[in-house]
Amino acid sequence: MNKHDLALFGGNPVRTTPFPRYNTMGQEEREAVLRVIDSGDLSKFMGAWTDGFYGGPEVRALEEEWAVEIGAERAVSVNSASSGLIVALGAAGVGPHDEVIVSPYSMCISATAPLFWGAVPVFCDVEPDTYCVDPAEMEALITPRTKAILAVDIFGQPADFDGIMEIADRHGLIVIEDAAQAPLAELHGKRAGTLGHIGVFSLNCHKHIHCGEGGIAVTNDERLAERMCLIRNHAEAAAGPRHETDLTNLVGYNMRMTELEASVARCQLRKLHPLVETRRSNCAATIEGLEALPGIRFGGIRENASHSFYLLPFLFDEIRAEVGRERFLEAVRAELAPTRGREKEGVKIYGGYVQPIYWLPIFQQRMALGRNGFPFADSGVGYERGLCPTVERLHLKELFCSDLMHAAMAATDVEDVVTAFHKVWEGRSFLK
Ligand SMILES: *Cc1c(COP(=O)(O)O)cnc(C)c1O
Repeated sequence: MNKHDLALFGGNPVRTTPFPRYNTMGQEEREAVLRVIDSGDLSKFMGAWTDGFYGGPEVRALEEEWAVEIGAERAVSVNSASSGLIVALGAAGVGPHDEVIVSPYSMCISATAPLFWGAVPVFCDVEPDTYCVDPAEMEALITPRTKAILAVDIFGQPADFDGIMEIADRHGLIVIEDAAQAPLAELHGKRAGTLGHIGVFSLNCHKHIHCGEGGIAVTNDERLAERMCLIRNHAEAAAGPRHETDLTNLVGYNMRMTELEASVARCQLRKLHPLVETRRSNCAATIEGLEALPGIRFGGIRENASHSFYLLPFLFDEIRAEVGRERFLEAVRAELAPTRGREKEGVKIYGGYVQPIYWLPIFQQRMALGRNGFPFADSGVGYERGLCPTVERLHLKELFCSDLMHAAMAATDVEDVVTAFHKVWEGRSFLK
């Protein structure tokens, strides 16, 4: 090979045809939406203690079906997973100045949800090869103010809930599982979402299945489920007629899902198994295909766990590759084509994931609610750079993610991705 064989330097790319787009919508969803439209009832929620307090038939059916699929006693639908995390923490009784242990490597709401109740997020570093919060780092973060742990099944793999629940039980903490990326993943045969006290799923348009916007919280705790139903739907109005005795956090929002979204989500749920299965086989083929490259490594799957691959993460070793991650990936992207209909987003393989959440201005400037630095001002919790060294190293140097493994990718599409990596690996000395 010589330098000009690489597409980055003008050579023929491995692939020029766009990759197929991941679109899970079909005839079933069209019919479901029309059925709701024809009924005239696009939502049957009432913000009062009446029959409509729990929503209409599609919402209730979705909740029942979701609970059965995930293996939980109760499911409570909301308008997003972000709302789900907020109602979960509210139901758990988290309040001003409480501390909640969170992950720095996730969508930002996984760390900011405690702020909605005036609580302070405390960042816990992640495991170097699963990227989930590391229970070994957690004990040292617990103070008399610690109330809850919000752990994320990042990229689709369950966090170490054996370790997390052991610590939580010992300290009497509530555990919320952000399972937005992990539907159908399992640990010891239990589905993600059921591994803590409350689990939260997302139905936004980027997830395995979606209904536009939506979320679902699951729990085996009847009291937590009812408190979540209250907070999603004007809790203060229903509290009196229901004779609620514990009014903590019964300040309600409107986080209700409409019948339209619920009807679509029900169709999507029926497709979830095959969609996850295809991702798993595409990921297995990619992992196997890249195994021969000494500078690229899949971090692995936790023992007794399964992965549902929201994204496929790898670790890049710039010392063995003798070239930096960004330069290498730039050359890989040059060999491939974008996704049809999403050309502007480029080739979906990228260095890092989101930046460590505590780098955001809200934490760096300790400014969230009001002008007086609440709830950070009287808290000793720190957000300095270097706080979680593993996540910073992963983000800046080691981790990269591929989205080119979703269920619309055929085996030959996956093969092109693997070929591009091999080609660039062979020609990597030209990248210096
Ligand atoms: C997508 C996502 C969320 C938020 O989901 P929404 O439904 O958009 O609010 C939360 N946590 C994680 C890990 C996610 O991937």
